Amino acid sequence: MSQSFDALIIGAGQAGPSLAGRLTAAGWTVALVERQDFGGTCVNTGCTPTKALIASAKAAQTRRQAEQYGLPPAGEFTVDLAQVQARKDAIVAASRQGLEKWLTHMPGCTVFRGTARFLSATTMQVGDEVLAAKHIFLNVGGRPARPALPGIEQVPYFTSSTILGLQELPAHLVIVGAGAVGLEFAQLFRRLGSEVTLVERSPRLLPHDDEDVAAAVAEILTSEGITLRLGAECISLGQENGQPVVHVSCEENPASSQGSHLLLALGRQPNTDDLGLDKAGLQADKHGYIPVDEQLQTAVPGIWALGDCNGRGAYTHTAYNDFEIVAANLLDHEPRRVSDRLPVSAIYVDPPFAKVGLTEAEVHAAGTPALVGKRPMTKVGRATEKGETQGFMKVLVHAETDQILGASIVGVGGDEAIHCIITAMYARQTAAFMRHNVFIHPTVAELIPTVFGELKPLEKGEK
Ligand SMILES: Cc1cc2nc3c(=O)[nH]c(=O)nc-3n(C[C@H](O)[C@H](O)[C@H](O)COP(=O)(O)OP(=O)(O)OC[C@H]3O[C@@H](n4cnc5c(N)ncnc54)[C@H](O)[C@@H]3O)c2cc1C
Repeated sequence: MSQSFDALIIGAGQAGPSLAGRLTAAGWTVALVERQDFGGTCVNTGCTPTKALIASAKAAQTRRQAEQYGLPPAGEFTVDLAQVQARKDAIVAASRQGLEKWLTHMPGCTVFRGTARFLSATTMQVGDEVLAAKHIFLNVGGRPARPALPGIEQVPYFTSSTILGLQELPAHLVIVGAGAVGLEFAQLFRRLGSEVTLVERSPRLLPHDDEDVAAAVAEILTSEGITLRLGAECISLGQENGQPVVHVSCEENPASSQGSHLLLALGRQPNTDDLGLDKAGLQADKHGYIPVDEQLQTAVPGIWALGDCNGRGAYTHTAYNDFEIVAANLLDHEPRRVSDRLPVSAIYVDPPFAKVGLTEAEVHAAGTPALVGKRPMTKVGRATEKGETQGFMKVLVHAETDQILGASIVGVGGDEAIHCIITAMYARQTAAFMRHNVFIHPTVAELIPTVFGELKPLEKGEK
């Protein structure tokens, strides 16, 4: 049976549902196909569940620190992971169900459940149905990568998705991979009460960020008792006495980390391998991403790719911005482009690390004459009042034009405070603009004008 629509949207992640809302409001008929959970990764196995767990972990940590706040000691306590997961599950379910209700009741939108595969550039099969449309929007996202590590077949392991179902606290969690996902799980499980070892191939954390950022994040983690095994050149997996072991060295008697549970956090893989792209005349790149232009159109007219599957972003905010770009171009005749957006992101270790724009290494590589301003969080009143003084704020400014080039904040409230710099950068504003602005006292952000007022030349290798 074949049904025709103005548009097919494949995937109810972070771009598809909002696009369905805009297109149907404009009078289009839309078929939206989802094979698993409404809300995709962010809602079900990504941002929402991890940030809910991180909140529980923070509460446990604050309870442990009671005496530092002049309160009676909390004493020893054990976390019931099942209860923590239940709180998280309720938050996730509310979000997923809200989205499902919105989509299934959206006038002009027909929801299909199943896996969509191309039959041609204008038709896709979902179960027994054939859906046809002149416009097809792929928002298929990704899943945890399964790297070809030696021994992976022999060892049971968790991914960032499956560990969200764990009901008993691991005695010792070994995590391989210190990207955002590995770092966040490391700290949250440590705070909930597990021993944690984090194994990473790079000689330092966050190799794409500045060394001072990596050092501050490493200090935050190690100060809480997390063991870092950095520079793990030859990672292989095994088992001893029924427990997972991660070998970290290429030497004959390799050093190893043994734990009770193993989490592999080694990146993500786009869900493009089972779409039948060739039937539509499309080809993924060597990493599985669907190449797109500045307006997110693929090489085949009438087919767009949005979100994680196009390799132009790996965040919810980039997926959502993809929706905005497509809607603006299609419906508003507004020529928005992917390259209009600034690179912004945060890693939700506590305190968080948030950044915008260029790093020092990128500024040096571009040969840009630059100034740097930096302030430790020990000199931020709000941070001392809160008893959370780890980290620093740092800004980079063009030495000749005064334009803001980038900023990193490792510190309490940094994920929120960075937005005043993001906004100024988007408005192509200068350090002088930041210095003249008045911010609310007492906040972390109120010191940002001060940081812009204490600029000095950026030397190569600046820490
Ligand atoms: C542990 C973790 C924590 C994260 N934390 C953050 C964070 O704090 N902030 C942030 O910005 N980002 C975070 N991310 C990343 C964020 O979740 C993703 O960037 C975002 O979800 C991408 O959205 P998307 O719409 O591209 O795809 P997804 O959200 O993955 O949605 C794709 C949807 O398509 C469906 N689908 C796939 N193939 C088909 C098919 N053939 N037919 C039908 N349906 C299909 C899938 O079932 C899925 O529902 C995190 C990710 C992880 C794993």
